Amino acid sequence: MLKLENITKYYYSSSSVTCALRKINLEFKIGEFVAITGESGSGKTTLLNIISGLDSYEDGEMYFGNKKTSFFDAKDWEKYRKEEISFIFQNYNLIDSFSVLENVMVAFIIDGYSYNQAKTKAKEVLKFVGLENDIRKRASKLSGGQKQRLAIARALAKETNIIVADEPTGNLDSENGVAILQLLKKISKDKLVIVVTHNLGQIEPFITRKIRLHDGEVALDETYKVSDCLVNKTNSKDKEKELKKISNFSFLNIKSQPNKSVLLFLLVFICTLSTFIFYGNFKMNIDDHKTKNLDNSIFINMDDTRMLVKKTDSSIVNDEMFDEVMVKHVKSAEKYDYITDVNYYRDGDYQTVFAGGYVPNPNDPTGMPPVFEDKSYIQLLNHNKYMRSYNTLSENMLKAGRLPTNDNEMVVYSNNLSILDTTEKVLFRNDRIQSIDNYYSFNVKVVGVLKENTSQAYFSENICKLMDLTQYKKNITISYYVEVNNRKQLKSYSFSEILINPTLKDYDICVNSSLADSLKYNTIIDFENNVALSIGGYTEITTLKFSLNDYIDGNSKTIGVSKELFDKIYSNFENKTQFAIFADDYAYIDDINNSLAKLGYETLSCYKASATEYNIEKVIIRYVNLAVSIVSLVLVNLIIVLLCNTILKVKKNDYIIFKMIGLSNDLCKKINYVEVSTYGLISNILLWIICAITKNVSNIELINNLFKYVRFYDYILILLIIAISMIMVGRKFGKFLTKNLKVTMLKEE
Ligand code: ADP
Ligand code: MG
Repeated sequence: MLKLENITKYYYSSSSVTCALRKINLEFKIGEFVAITGESGSGKTTLLNIISGLDSYEDGEMYFGNKKTSFFDAKDWEKYRKEEISFIFQNYNLIDSFSVLENVMVAFIIDGYSYNQAKTKAKEVLKFVGLENDIRKRASKLSGGQKQRLAIARALAKETNIIVADEPTGNLDSENGVAILQLLKKISKDKLVIVVTHNLGQIEPFITRKIRLHDGEVALDETYKVSDCLVNKTNSKDKEKELKKISNFSFLNIKSQPNKSVLLFLLVFICTLSTFIFYGNFKMNIDDHKTKNLDNSIFINMDDTRMLVKKTDSSIVNDEMFDEVMVKHVKSAEKYDYITDVNYYRDGDYQTVFAGGYVPNPNDPTGMPPVFEDKSYIQLLNHNKYMRSYNTLSENMLKAGRLPTNDNEMVVYSNNLSILDTTEKVLFRNDRIQSIDNYYSFNVKVVGVLKENTSQAYFSENICKLMDLTQYKKNITISYYVEVNNRKQLKSYSFSEILINPTLKDYDICVNSSLADSLKYNTIIDFENNVALSIGGYTEITTLKFSLNDYIDGNSKTIGVSKELFDKIYSNFENKTQFAIFADDYAYIDDINNSLAKLGYETLSCYKASATEYNIEKVIIRYVNLAVSIVSLVLVNLIIVLLCNTILKVKKNDYIIFKMIGLSNDLCKKINYVEVSTYGLISNILLWIICAITKNVSNIELINNLFKYVRFYDYILILLIIAISMIMVGRKFGKFLTKNLKVTMLKEE
């Protein structure tokens, strides 16, 4: 079985050379129960280490089953230790945090048994050593005798032919010691059991052979009786593939050390979460438009979700386009892009300011008391509400009422439903075109109430068209002939606003009554049939009605037209090529641009178009954010890698034991990779779940913004970052195992 021929072992240190073993010649057979004795320093442990393949020798040869072991490489020795040698130590070397059952199971799992097989087998072996009633106990809770029984059970689980034991009864009282020796005796019937001991008297009744070492030499080798036994090593286990072995082992490892596992997992999870946050913050700051000052000479409404859209071939807008552009993250499409720059003012958004007072009496400037003049004007207050059209509404946005149809109607939010069907005065002004004291004023009826609590109001087609038309208002004129000295002379008058007067019909138009009076007064001609109304270059022959005194909505710069005429005029301007869309968030502007480009659209972010020069303060904040995010991301990952490693190192002793039971270095590393990768993967899955849940319920703006900027491929990237960190943990610990375990195993006694 095992033959040592002239084995010599030296220990070298910086100052001296010790000869631990000198020309040892020994031969061992199956069925022997050998006791090795000798005073301290005589070489007992060294001999045992050489037999078990834990230590090398300088000279001589050890044969294992006729094979020369001097040709063994590290792998061969690993295999030799795994398949041929089981250890039993004075200090038991159990995994304290494992249960009795798990301590034995782990040996079977390393041997390649399935999880359940390992369990069954472990129970059998534990019954054999008399621990069947304590299988659920932690190893640390056992008495010394029980611990050594467990160590023997685990040695048996390795199913090797050679069992070596260094002072197995050294820590036990005599009663327990004898019991252990009885157990070893029982085992030695079909195995080779080699025991190093000081206590020859105790072991003598059981052994078949006694070897005494002195000064590294065999001083005595006495064989009492060799029980003839049959070697029946039947190694026909249906062993599992390596991957299964790793998963079985990891499962046992994670399960049996929940505290450590939870701690490691928490660290990895914190790492994942921080990576998500820092990565998200980094992405949020990539776009630099937010660090620029805004120039409002192009757009007034600085809603950063607003975009202008047009077909690349400049084709005229049609209804299908509004559906087509509703790609992901587009909230709504606004047909009247122009009105998105028009402010509206409801009650409270404007105030009537009294501007009258005592003024000098105009009739008598010579010193009569002044007269009181009752004058007031309207002051517009909140320039932050921009009108939207009924087009962007849908039934499900309403909690009461209906959508605006054709008249002066609107939909607003109110907590009080009695607002329905009331009419209020709403003012409109396009700051770009209208001067400070110039605005439109309509009486608008509330026909629907919004569910969402918002200050956004939506207006009917009529109002939208009217406001849309203001972009052409520069050129609203009427032209007519007057008779001067019997000759016809062309005169014209300009207006700044066009309004619909519902009481008019066909081609009728009207002006404010004071203007009408002055026109009548100054002209002799009956121009009821001959007025040419011209707007934005488009001319229509119309009829000017003077009789409409109830026309109150305008001033002398306002011209009223019939609904029919208005529609006719408007249809001439309707050949638009662009319209507006609104994104769910500024974060999606680029995505929308890309999706729409595929559909043949060009987009323009009104916000980006208005962003001009960098604002140094914001630029600095952005760079600080970028730097802090990336540095924190790297730091957090590094710190977590180090922390994980520290926790893993606490398990060093466990790994020493696993290796003694036969776990190869390679497998140790792989198991660690699998374990930390599992934590990484679960952390990421948990992150996805948390994100999916909190996406719609979170009230924290930072978190909400993160979700907007972190896309699917970013989650994959985060997974990769964590994977890299986990590989680092695995690598570092792997290196640590390779470097440290060898040394430690040799010191083990
Ligand atoms: P025993 O187990 O019988 O007490 P050892 O086998 O441990 O004896 O030691 C035999 C001799 O080798 C002793 O002189 C000891 O000092 C020396 N020795 C053991 N291990 C080492 C080592 N790692 N380095 C140097 N000398 C050692
Ligand atoms: Mg020793």
